[in-house]
Amino acid sequence: MVVVLLGPPGVGKGTQAVRLAVAMGAAHVSTGDLLRAARREGTALGRAAQGFMDRGELVPDDLILDLVREHLDGVDHDTDVLFDGFPRTEDQATSLDQALAKLDRSVDLVVLFEADDDVLVRRLSGRRSCPNCGSVYNVFFNAPAEDGVCDRCAGELVHRKDDDPETVGRRLQVYMDETAPLIAFYEDHDAPLRRIEADRDVDEIYREFEAAVRAEGQA
Ligand code: AMP
Repeated sequence: MVVVLLGPPGVGKGTQAVRLAVAMGAAHVSTGDLLRAARREGTALGRAAQGFMDRGELVPDDLILDLVREHLDGVDHDTDVLFDGFPRTEDQATSLDQALAKLDRSVDLVVLFEADDDVLVRRLSGRRSCPNCGSVYNVFFNAPAEDGVCDRCAGELVHRKDDDPETVGRRLQVYMDETAPLIAFYEDHDAPLRRIEADRDVDEIYREFEAAVRAEGQA
């Protein structure tokens, strides 16, 4: 099964994706995480992406698509895939459909996580993430047991530079302009689109998310 998680930055997609991927043994493909890893490793892609990311802008489609295609090549065709933060433009969504068709696969479900802007701003400013295993926490809503330490792998948690207040505003605007049109794209798509209200307790959201994905898997 291939699931696309759609929604604005800070809505909690990453937290939910990591949790469900572990529960289902699915591949979690977060282009944001892949780009941050490329930056840490100092690859050509990482260097090319750096400025865009720090300004809160989208990295150009061709770079993202090469990254995703390369990553998909390494995923077994029977493995469930959860796309998190990808696609973010209509060109990316169309290219994803084409790349999956070549593998005899397709997007099976789109889950749209929704929350108001003021909630997103608080979520982003409180966010702490683990560069080691990708787990995401929030000091206000979903704090780790020990301050600054990942519950899952004991890695040191970091506050992302692009979660700074100035960049957060820019990222929300970029979402509205470039990614929100994907909602209409997926409303017209063969895959069903499920909406989840994300301004709620993280466990409650997870139960609804997991149920939606498992139901689609049995459909
Ligand atoms: P994220 O962790 O998903 O919020 O992504 C962090 C940053 O990486 C974004 O603000 C973009 O600069 C870049 N990025 C991640 N995924 C994509 C994508 N699918 N298309 C373009 N840029 C992306």
